[in-house]
Amino acid sequence: MTSLKPVRGTRDIMNEECRGHRHVASVGRDIARRYGFTEIATPIFEFSEVFKRTLGEASDIVTKEMYAFEDRGGSEITLRPEGTAGIARAFISNGLTQNLPCKFFYEGPMFRYERPQKGRLRQFHQVGVEILGVPTPQADIEVIALGAQMLGELGVGDKTVLEINSLGDRESRAAYRDVLVAYFTGHRDALSEDSRARLERNPLRILDSKDKGDRELIAEAPDMSDYLNEGSRAFFDTVLDGLESLGVEMSVNPRLVRGLDYYCHTAFEFTTEVLGAQGAVIAGGRYDGLIEQMGGPSTPGVGWAAGIERLSMLLSEPPALPRPIAVIPVGEGAQGPAMGIAHTLRENGYVVDMGYSGNLAKRMKRADRMNACAAVILGDDELERNSATLRDLDSGEQSEIPLDDLTDRLSAFR
Ligand code: ATP
Ligand code: MG
Repeated sequence: MTSLKPVRGTRDIMNEECRGHRHVASVGRDIARRYGFTEIATPIFEFSEVFKRTLGEASDIVTKEMYAFEDRGGSEITLRPEGTAGIARAFISNGLTQNLPCKFFYEGPMFRYERPQKGRLRQFHQVGVEILGVPTPQADIEVIALGAQMLGELGVGDKTVLEINSLGDRESRAAYRDVLVAYFTGHRDALSEDSRARLERNPLRILDSKDKGDRELIAEAPDMSDYLNEGSRAFFDTVLDGLESLGVEMSVNPRLVRGLDYYCHTAFEFTTEVLGAQGAVIAGGRYDGLIEQMGGPSTPGVGWAAGIERLSMLLSEPPALPRPIAVIPVGEGAQGPAMGIAHTLRENGYVVDMGYSGNLAKRMKRADRMNACAAVILGDDELERNSATLRDLDSGEQSEIPLDDLTDRLSAFR
């Protein structure tokens, strides 16, 4: 029955995988909090216009990847393919433009109609950060350092490298664009069809092409760094020096680009070799023209987004579940009191597992399967004495203790 399958490119996230995702998001959230970011949760769908205007009609996402539909009221709606556009919209619609700088963290599902493969889904999840209102390189340094710290605290720092480049300011980019167009026009016939189309609309994006023939031409293409004007060069050097002084390792990749006009100066990716073709785990850059493009006042911005699925695949061990305490009633009469004890322990912050049925042997087996650290066994005799048997499930040691002491005695198992 096809209707019981999840839609292509979507999946049910359970158990270890779910814990992996939660772990990535909570480490990201916690570090962002330490950096003074506040969380924002924008709607999962927006008017399609929001994405068309910010991502550009010519971008891959808008031309090929949007989950767009008309709702019952006839509005053109799109499930968000990324987080920055919605945040830029929220920034303007909530009148935050006088409250600068704004530092936002976000987390949640994103939707793109792409060909599903390892590390590439149609519903995937991101954490991301944005700083709005800071024109100076300090913000670039800060968001990149935050990303590096997140990878470090997730224990995947040594599996990733930071690649960084500068797209310069408008003047530098225009100069580079001209030489790039001249260069690729000279090799027009050798370019892939996609790249030939980009030559008119979006020539910088050719550098991003994965086509083999294109890659050979790209290897010989002129370098952006030769066309940075003085101010852009100084901006980039400040970013590089700042990162170096924080001990963030990086490698300058002159081919790293973002295609859209409002991207400028810093572009970066944290990539890994471990995941095959889908190697980018964090991608970001500076987008000083974006808010203006959306109809807001000119406001600089810089940020990144990280793929939660890809990061969680890099984790060497899924985060462990806390070990529960098993409460085990033996016999009918113990059921009610056992419920009460489990309840009290849970109120006191303990993780408690209580099976719903079965004899002592079956319940002990369950405790073992749940990796319980201790069992509180309640038989009729013990209950008459207002006590329980507490068994350490690692050492096997056990003793009878008064129920009143239970909460305290269990603190050894926290
Ligand atoms: P790619 O080159 O892999 O297509 P992208 O340039 O489209 O990535 P961004 O839009 O910059 O990616 O998104 C930031 C991050 O989100 C990526 O580095 C990646 O980790 C993750 N990501 C993007 N698209 C997907 C997807 N379809 N499935 C899973 N993760 C994704
Ligand atoms: Mg993509």
